[in-house]
Amino acid sequence: MGNLHPIVKTQGMGHPRFIMKRGNSRWTLCFFVGRFRGMRAVLFSCFLFFSIFSAHGWGQTGHRIVGQIAENHLSKKARKAILSILSGESLAEVSNYMDFIKSDTTYDYMQPWHYCTIPEGMAYVDAGVPPEGDIIQAIDRLIRELKEKQFSVEDEAFALKCLIHLVGDIHQPLHVGNGTDRGGNDVRLSFFGESTNLHRVWDSDMIDYQGFSYREYADWIDHSGPMDVRASQQQGMMEWVKESQDMHKTVYDLPVNKQLGYSYIYQNLNGINQRLLQAGLRLAGILNELYG
Ligand SMILES: [Zn+2]
Repeated sequence: MGNLHPIVKTQGMGHPRFIMKRGNSRWTLCFFVGRFRGMRAVLFSCFLFFSIFSAHGWGQTGHRIVGQIAENHLSKKARKAILSILSGESLAEVSNYMDFIKSDTTYDYMQPWHYCTIPEGMAYVDAGVPPEGDIIQAIDRLIRELKEKQFSVEDEAFALKCLIHLVGDIHQPLHVGNGTDRGGNDVRLSFFGESTNLHRVWDSDMIDYQGFSYREYADWIDHSGPMDVRASQQQGMMEWVKESQDMHKTVYDLPVNKQLGYSYIYQNLNGINQRLLQAGLRLAGILNELYG
């Protein structure tokens, strides 16, 4: 059975929007289609099928690294505006919010927004956009609607926290799944003797293994000058997706015994650090455009 969301109010003909409504003292983010004024619409009919994809994106440290790097590259004006919207919290501090709310069933309909699925050798347009939405649609919509500046302060904070999280997620190469193994969650293996799976290795195991705090990690990998920043910010979202897909060759280059250790890190550390850095710089670019 799909997920049913109340229509809060209409926002123009046929224009799908994020609408936030305070309900049961929680913020509910709803999609709705304006032309169905006064009606309730089932918008995520395939939700259950996709909810088994237990993807969290970068682990807590990974998301905070992305947030910290973005913070490093905000314009003065953007930093001030965002600090006010987030009530003094930093980008790193709010970056895991979208994972925290996963334990609240109110937000179950947002689960498919953490990833997208594109079968190997296919382009996104050929794969088709799933009815329950995906990370590409969610980021696109959040940016568009934040640009319109129609949100209340509370709604804007919610939307901003979601955007900060999702720009991180889309850079985790296994958040662009190939449709065969739930983004690597089904690939069981060990990492330095500990049982885990490929998705978790990329979310957190390799990052945590470095033993840095998020600030130390951000300091370690972010030495970006203005030219590096510009170079990272030139690509559009579909290129970010393609980059994640292109990394699969290395990501899935696993030893036969499925025991990962130093050599897998050696093979992938530059790649993972590059993705964290790109995510941070690109997030800064989006936020500077929105608030700079
Ligand atoms: Zn996520």
